[in-house]
Amino acid sequence: MEKSRQLPVIEPHMPNMSATIGSHGKRKWVYQDITKGQWATRRNIVIAVLIVFYLVAPFIKINGNPFVLFDLVSRRFSFFGHTFLATDLYLLALLLVMSVLALFWFSAMFGRLWCGWACPQTVYLEGIFYRVERWIEGNPRQRKELDNGPHDDAYWTRKIFKHGIFWLVATAMSLSFTAYFIGPEASYEMFWTFGAAHPTAMAVAVFITAISYFNFAWFREQFCHFLCPYARIQSVFLDEHSLIVGYDQSRGEPRGNLRPKDPTPKGDCVACNRCVQVCPMGIDIRNGLQLECIQCTACIDACDVVMAKVNRPLGLIRYDSLAGIEHKKHRLVRPRVILYLAVFVLLGAMFTYRLSAREIVDFAVVRPAGTPYLMQEDGNVRNMLQMHFTNTDARTRTVTVKLESPIPAQLMVLGEPIELVPGERIKAEAFIMVPKDQIKSSATPMEFKLMDGATEIGTASAKFLGPVYTGHHDDDDHDKDEKQGHNEH
Ligand code: SF4
Ligand code: SF4
Repeated sequence: MEKSRQLPVIEPHMPNMSATIGSHGKRKWVYQDITKGQWATRRNIVIAVLIVFYLVAPFIKINGNPFVLFDLVSRRFSFFGHTFLATDLYLLALLLVMSVLALFWFSAMFGRLWCGWACPQTVYLEGIFYRVERWIEGNPRQRKELDNGPHDDAYWTRKIFKHGIFWLVATAMSLSFTAYFIGPEASYEMFWTFGAAHPTAMAVAVFITAISYFNFAWFREQFCHFLCPYARIQSVFLDEHSLIVGYDQSRGEPRGNLRPKDPTPKGDCVACNRCVQVCPMGIDIRNGLQLECIQCTACIDACDVVMAKVNRPLGLIRYDSLAGIEHKKHRLVRPRVILYLAVFVLLGAMFTYRLSAREIVDFAVVRPAGTPYLMQEDGNVRNMLQMHFTNTDARTRTVTVKLESPIPAQLMVLGEPIELVPGERIKAEAFIMVPKDQIKSSATPMEFKLMDGATEIGTASAKFLGPVYTGHHDDDDHDKDEKQGHNEH
């Protein structure tokens, strides 16, 4: 029977029910209206700036290094022009902890402003996709009529046009997103060769295009409602002094339409529903703080327009703390925000110090086991060493090594000058030769300077081992020394 196949009806008043889920569990499409006001103006500027930033950030370079790069394959990461390798794990861990602390602090102070103003999901939706939709399909009433009306030529023309633009935008976003992981050069190559140069990256880019299109064309606010982990844990960060978008219930209730002859006392809310009509999440802010609210502030502007029209004070819906909305004392500075900030500053100082102390090319000199020194026939004593170079920079570096020795000595590094591409590690053998009669100590300290052209970019030290020359040795003694050198070690 037809009846048995019907889905259970979910009542609109059911607790924990999403505002965009209607009866029978079906999705209620949000036909969001737009509003003007001071918050909308500010937000539009922020969103425009962020769209440009998110799209071009992976192509920006600072001193030849990417501004931001997450090269997972080579385990190379760049932030603000500094490159980190897998060996910089402690620095990356510090950055991660600092980011989490910054999120704690920002949320404790400003609530979910990130969600409504800076999250790429919101920024692209509000800044591009909703605008395209309004431009092609009109205002909320026209969009609703189009969706519910006949699927005629006009319907398909608008839909195909709109979704064609959506797909193009999703492609541009996906190419930019891929550049965050493969870098600008590989992105250009991938683009101009239609993926032939980087087939794996191209396949990922196509997949991301499809995901982005699905998300921005259809899934939209459902992502915030059901998938975003930050939305789920936000209540942990907030307290009654965190800034939120809230409705002043004591002022607004009892709500009601303005009817001059109605003697019943009314609050300031005229029940016009404008705050609901402009909400991209489809929720009613008058129901209190809700998981779905992304603090976009659209309802503040919408309500202020209404308040101005009915000659009542603005701010019935406002950006205030829960304490402020309930007309209690609002405390901006609280122990938890001081603690978050203090730990953040401490870790930031540690990070900056470690970063500034880090060498562009990690340089170390070690002595291989069992190779102390060798007496050469030409009268020199020779030490063999190993030099380790790791390029932590994002640029190719060509390096040489200069020896600073208290006694006359000659350094020979095999393969010098050494070219190191970003992230590359190279091990080179090196020899130091000292005339036997110049050795004054059995372990002479020596300094090695790593040079990139005329610039010193690193140092290392090691000891030169050899027999101390007394002037009484004869050739037999030399032979003996050579044997001792090998036998002893
Ligand atoms: S916009 Fe303001 S007055 Fe209108 S329903 Fe919302 S809270 Fe009430
Ligand atoms: S309730 Fe207001 S602030 Fe929250 S998402 Fe809706 S319109 Fe934005």
